[in-house]
Amino acid sequence: MYIGIDIGGTNIKGVLMNNGKVVAKIQHPTQSKTNKKILLEQIFKYIEKLIKKSVKGGLARSPLAGIGVGVAGPVDFENQKILNPPNVVILKNLELGKIIEKKFKIKTIIENDGHLMTLAETILGAGKNKNSVVGITLGTGVGGGIVMNKKIIHGKTGTAGEMGHMSIDRYGRKCSCGSRGCLEAYLGEGGIRKTSYEFFNKRIRSYDLHQMARKGNSKAIQAWKEVGKHLGAGLANIVDMFNPEIIIVGGGIARGAGELLMNPAKKEMRKNILSKSAKKTSVVLAKLNEYAGAIGAGLLFNK
Ligand SMILES: [Zn+2]
Repeated sequence: MYIGIDIGGTNIKGVLMNNGKVVAKIQHPTQSKTNKKILLEQIFKYIEKLIKKSVKGGLARSPLAGIGVGVAGPVDFENQKILNPPNVVILKNLELGKIIEKKFKIKTIIENDGHLMTLAETILGAGKNKNSVVGITLGTGVGGGIVMNKKIIHGKTGTAGEMGHMSIDRYGRKCSCGSRGCLEAYLGEGGIRKTSYEFFNKRIRSYDLHQMARKGNSKAIQAWKEVGKHLGAGLANIVDMFNPEIIIVGGGIARGAGELLMNPAKKEMRKNILSKSAKKTSVVLAKLNEYAGAIGAGLLFNK
């Protein structure tokens, strides 16, 4: 029995897993992004709730053997330390795994949320039975992960797979990280609002923009085409670099926009890939939706 928790800037999600399957899930808004004490207490309460569920609900078929925790931001996996999360800055340099492990006396592992989404999709979602999987998530920020032979690729300091800050134009749009032309500057929520401004002279939320496109608004369809082309340029770089069997696109924005985004992205990607055989690389939407990060956190123990 394992617990998986995903700490995002907007919501905290938790799952209870048994034999690689989700047996319970909960979700609540993140209470504080500015007060470490309040946030830690909320995380502790959350874990207690899931433990209670496992005991009370008669779900505890085996003892609780691990807690996996996903965070939105880079993690030094070897030293189990959160580095510099852009959205929940109070977690910076926090050894959150050790803190949780000390409190609950249960083995705890922390990991980047994009890595976890990719792991979850590889084992239970769109990447099942694939040996080389790259995931990219489009939300407030843009993250990702690389999973080879069911193992997360960390690189030397744990930060491999930060697809969101791959630059596709070094004279391009300014990104929140300080660099220019990063995928996040076009594909994150803020980036999509900027693109909508170019078409409508006002900033439109990604949700409203895909609703408008679905109702046939041609400018909105065009705007998604533009966003898709940026995604496609990034995907081509990913294919040229890793030649994966499959790329899985997840996150709230991809889920909402669906084919409005994916069709132009695939077209642009195929145009830009160098090798003919790799042009066939499949690109699909994620299957596990909003709990993917938490499920991936639970699967960290699924050996
Ligand atoms: Zn950036």
